[in-house]
Amino acid sequence: MILIPMKSTIILSKNLLKDGANMNFKYILAITFLLISSTSSAGGPPGGMRCQLGVSPPGQQYSPAYDQPPTQYALNELNTIYGALCPPPNGCGTYFLTLNNTAPNALAMAVGPGQTKIAYNPNFMGQVFAQFGPGASFGILAHEFGHHIDFHTTPPWMNNAWSRELKADSWAGCALAKVGLGPNQIQNALYAIAAYPSPTHPGWPQRIQAVQTGFTSCGGQWSNNFN
Ligand SMILES: [Zn+2]
Repeated sequence: MILIPMKSTIILSKNLLKDGANMNFKYILAITFLLISSTSSAGGPPGGMRCQLGVSPPGQQYSPAYDQPPTQYALNELNTIYGALCPPPNGCGTYFLTLNNTAPNALAMAVGPGQTKIAYNPNFMGQVFAQFGPGASFGILAHEFGHHIDFHTTPPWMNNAWSRELKADSWAGCALAKVGLGPNQIQNALYAIAAYPSPTHPGWPQRIQAVQTGFTSCGGQWSNNFN
């Protein structure tokens, strides 16, 4: 298994490592992260699954053993999302991004306390980009990351009656507003997350209301042309 610790891991490590901690402890901590991730996701379908868009390729199940480093493009998009939704100094837990050919389209799963792994199938992401253009994969990743941040914070504008999926959609809307994407890229992101729901997603008319709430609550100017 290869996991890519990102900014939040570094932040968390800094918080945990008091002044004077030695390198051995840092090394042990790093190993602990990997062990937690490996143990919790080993052996068939992981119990910590929070969201799964689409299904794995025929005859396959998502296997963490095939996790690979993500592309720099995807990594940059998720780092941008994290920076927008979880600014320092507090951040919002630890997350990992991984590319995996056995993954369904994209998924988010809990891999430890406060830790989420987001895995994506590179064929799917390539297809999304080809189909909808710039911003589309950002929308997918923002929705998946929404499942992570949903477990860390509840902003005043969040509707607690919403399902987990609607909350993730509203976080995606918030991210789209905060990073300042242009209207075309925002529309591409909306097309992408509308086109690839999970089996438990409600219909798009309900989802876009949640997206809009997150978007406007996070300072975005909603266009009635968005659909
Ligand atoms: Zn979801």
